[in-house]
Amino acid sequence: MAEIVENAETQAFVKDITRMSVDFDRWYTDVVRKAELADYTPVRGCMVIRPYGYALWEHIQRAFDDMIKATGHENWYFPLLIPEDLLVKEAEHVEGFTPEVAWVTEAGSHGRLDQRLAIRPTSETIIGTLIRRYIQSHRDLPQLTNQWCNVLRWEMRTRLFLRTAEFLWQEGHTFHATAEEARREVDLILDLYRRLAEEWLAMPVLPGLKSRAETFAGAVYTKSIEAMMLDGLALQAGTSHYFGQNFSRAYDIAFTNRENQREHCYSTSWGISTRLIGGLIMTHGDDTGLVLPPRVAPVQVVVVPIFRDGPARERVRAAIEGWRPEVEAAGVRLKVDWSEDRPGEKYNRWELKGVPLRIEVGPRDLEAGQVTIVDRLTRERRSLPMAGLGPRLRAELEDFQARLFRRALEFRDRHTYELATLAEVVDHFRRGTGFVWAPWCEDPACEIRVKEETGGVTIRNYDPDQPATGGCLVCGRPARRRVVLARSY
Ligand SMILES: [Zn+2]
Repeated sequence: MAEIVENAETQAFVKDITRMSVDFDRWYTDVVRKAELADYTPVRGCMVIRPYGYALWEHIQRAFDDMIKATGHENWYFPLLIPEDLLVKEAEHVEGFTPEVAWVTEAGSHGRLDQRLAIRPTSETIIGTLIRRYIQSHRDLPQLTNQWCNVLRWEMRTRLFLRTAEFLWQEGHTFHATAEEARREVDLILDLYRRLAEEWLAMPVLPGLKSRAETFAGAVYTKSIEAMMLDGLALQAGTSHYFGQNFSRAYDIAFTNRENQREHCYSTSWGISTRLIGGLIMTHGDDTGLVLPPRVAPVQVVVVPIFRDGPARERVRAAIEGWRPEVEAAGVRLKVDWSEDRPGEKYNRWELKGVPLRIEVGPRDLEAGQVTIVDRLTRERRSLPMAGLGPRLRAELEDFQARLFRRALEFRDRHTYELATLAEVVDHFRRGTGFVWAPWCEDPACEIRVKEETGGVTIRNYDPDQPATGGCLVCGRPARRRVVLARSY
């Protein structure tokens, strides 16, 4: 379980938030709703993302969009509706998605449609159908396509951000002339996902290959990044799939190669979604609410003015307006809270919203030519000189980002184990959670055994380049993989 940070001052305000140690799921939902990230709607399975949550998504989106554009990818937009005959061409893919697809069968005054239209659960089929028009020869390759959009997967057991019927994501779809190049693309994107998670979200992840049972429908193989949440459960935070020629054959996406022969393209697809916001909350939060990594925080520094009367208010205001331009010019996202609430209420509100740094400015600070800074992680109060506040705050935020990552990494390390037998694994997951490394022979039957005997623990992924030693945890035959096991969201 997570470390619980005590703070008597904030208890009055956060008494409405269930404590993390009491009920993790309720804590999570309380934080999402009370920090004003998202809420339920009258539409079952669909959430409303509120401005504070959407701003968070925009920062994540911008960071990743910059990364993929820097590596040659382009944004497109493809139709929301997919005709049934297009969807059903790749049998395995269709079978994987059929239980979740929502269909449009009627339209306004036209009545029943001749052909059902699927609301996209993912866009491999429509993109493959359209992209083939733009691919004739090897000179048209690679096509490095991405779209930012919503998708719908009928889902009744929903949780805000983690599992909703409709969600926002990006889906990349790329088409290549050789298998090697497509495989390199899968790895390139997986590494961009790792960097987004670790460098921007301060969320340590394990990149690796999925077992056959956990592979995306229609893919040759799937790679993922897996993060550990504060309840010890794994969250699959991004996936990158290699299709070989599976989709290109089904949709006849072909090109003329250098030998002047027709050949089917090699394709990939990859996605991250608003689920990452759920991951952020469960990686860094505490009993007081959110803790946000500065690099994606909508507000990085909140300023709380302290004054007793009009003249003091005016002096405080003048001081803040004095250094504010310099701080904003340094690229710091600043919010001054001039609301009517008492300072204590403001502290609580912004702690709940996870703002990394708080600055208090009162008459005494003005006399000393300084501000008081309070850190969301340590809650330490310190003084910083007003002179040069912009660069100082930048440095403070970078330090905060690094500490947040280290804390999450240490948490993961403390909850990671190495076990050798099924009996040990079953016993471990009867009592607790976390990541368990274990040797596996690669037989799907052994994987199923683990899942059955533990009541749902799965192989999250493994490093395909890492050799395994010893015998399989289930059957004892020579192990071929060292895999990480966990319960997951
Ligand atoms: Zn085995």
